[in-house]
Amino acid sequence: MQTDYEKIGLKVGLEIHQQLATSAKLFCKCKPELFKEEPEITFLRRLRPTQSELGQIDPAAYFEFQKGVKIRYEADTQTSCLVEMDEEPPHPLNMEAVEISLTAALMMNAKPVDEIHVMRKTVIDGSNTTGFQRTCVIALNGQVKVKEKTIPIQHISLEEDAARKTGEEEGNIIRYRIDRLGVPLIEVATAPVINSPKEAEEVALTIGRILRATGKVMRGLGTIRQDLNISIQGGALTEIKGVQELEIIPLVIEYEVQRQLNLIKISQELQKTGAKEEDLKEEFFDVTPIFKTTKCKVLQKALEKNQKILAAKLPKFKGFLKRELMPNIRLGTEMADRAKFWGRVGGIFHTDELPAYGITEEEIEALRKMVNAKEEDAVVFVADTPENAKDALKAVLERAKETLKGVPEETRAANPDGTTHYMRPRPGAARMYPETDTPPIQITEDYVRQILASLPELPEQKLQRLIRNYGLNQKLATQVMDSEYTELFETIAKENKVSPTTIAVFLTETMKALKREGVQIEKISESQIKEIFKCISSGELTKEALQDVVIWLSKHEGQSPRKAIENLGLKTLSREELEGIINNAISCNKDLIEKSGEKAFGSIMGMVMREVRGRAKAELVSELIKKKLEQTKT
Ligand SMILES: [Zn+2]
Repeated sequence: MQTDYEKIGLKVGLEIHQQLATSAKLFCKCKPELFKEEPEITFLRRLRPTQSELGQIDPAAYFEFQKGVKIRYEADTQTSCLVEMDEEPPHPLNMEAVEISLTAALMMNAKPVDEIHVMRKTVIDGSNTTGFQRTCVIALNGQVKVKEKTIPIQHISLEEDAARKTGEEEGNIIRYRIDRLGVPLIEVATAPVINSPKEAEEVALTIGRILRATGKVMRGLGTIRQDLNISIQGGALTEIKGVQELEIIPLVIEYEVQRQLNLIKISQELQKTGAKEEDLKEEFFDVTPIFKTTKCKVLQKALEKNQKILAAKLPKFKGFLKRELMPNIRLGTEMADRAKFWGRVGGIFHTDELPAYGITEEEIEALRKMVNAKEEDAVVFVADTPENAKDALKAVLERAKETLKGVPEETRAANPDGTTHYMRPRPGAARMYPETDTPPIQITEDYVRQILASLPELPEQKLQRLIRNYGLNQKLATQVMDSEYTELFETIAKENKVSPTTIAVFLTETMKALKREGVQIEKISESQIKEIFKCISSGELTKEALQDVVIWLSKHEGQSPRKAIENLGLKTLSREELEGIINNAISCNKDLIEKSGEKAFGSIMGMVMREVRGRAKAELVSELIKKKLEQTKT
């Protein structure tokens, strides 16, 4: 079914976060790198609610604090210091990062602020050791053009990246690694003027290209993250965090639209059934006895741990919990997500999905009776400590009440398949307050003029230049521009007598294909690639043998391309050697040549090429065979 996005009033705003390739982090001198080994240092912190200047405590943070959630931070000394551990105040703002941000901002025609003020933004999940993220606005009111449409850029900011979650442990402990904490991120926020899933992808691509054109951003998965604000008429504003792949942006939006449309429909149907908010009572039934001899493994385990099974009734909700909102995500899944978040339970059971999981018809019957459920009611139950189970059921009831109203405002996180899951409630106002440890930085007109004078080429200009100067077609030029080899391409094309198209195809398509086949192309350095093309340019290597050389080099790290050519026996044949091989082929096929005359050329050519592939240019082989055949005729 084709959705008419205009009719449903789709509005999307993008927030693009891109890690900058600076030599140090934003507020200290640590390297902005990730470590893979075991941590050298770990330390445990209790999550504490941060109090903003207005004296408001974030309800979700306060809740986690009450739950006694602790964070185990992992660190090593290369990538973090006392600043990341919140044992020392931040150092002055990294001016290299400021300059990159200003460059990008000016490329988007934004107006730099007169003074940069670092602010603190409350963060509630432990991903920052301080309880807040430092951020500062660099420029305002820019714009980018996407297919004749002007997309306003509301602001361009510079902020510190957060720690990355590495796991969870027993006893309400969440593990975070602080190597990523403090890595400079540029944030580009568009106005919510995007009206279709495809357009959102194009806007993200355009902004991404501008950021990459600065030549100072990190590359690879996880270095760019897109947040989407999505709303439709009659729905609500949903914030979706952490979309890493550009290509899934349209899918995320399509799914979210589907979800909101389905929730609106469910709300209307529920109202027709007579479901009411006041009937959704916080009344919890201890139904443990019913499941004393259950075959359900999950419940058995809970009972072994002496946990309780608590149930709550959702009057007139029968059948609605199994309604699909987007692929594999049902209303019941959303309730389970809430229960997991607020109750820290493993999940919920509900009557819309039963009998299943070893739970029998008889047990459900007894359950319904015990909670006085009518035919049209749904029953939800949870096995955990009574406190967690109650919190989980409260969250389920809360979600049920929201279902009556329509779509709740919330923050969701993107799954790799384009669907999303509940992350937390949307933060209220008063999240920002000034960072008093770093002084403001003036952006003088002189400084701006200086940056403006050496602004990098805009992506559109670069594309046209690649087409014009190197004779690349539009597709290939675009691929070169979007690849990480743009500069390398130009260097090789200028230094060698190899066709730019050959170089471009190799750097984009061939490298990508080899990677897909499992060749570790990241082991090939740029200087090795330059060397390979030098060999082609001088005639030592044929372009047909390019791939073989790259594969060999990926398996023999640090070796020279000449060594590869030697080891693979790919050294170009001399004219004499080649003539010898051709003479041999002709004399072995005298009969054939006599019989089919000029038609024999194809067969001879095939034979010789099989033997000399990668060691001689096809044009030369063809030329020599033709000449020899002429001579044999006479
Ligand atoms: Zn540091």
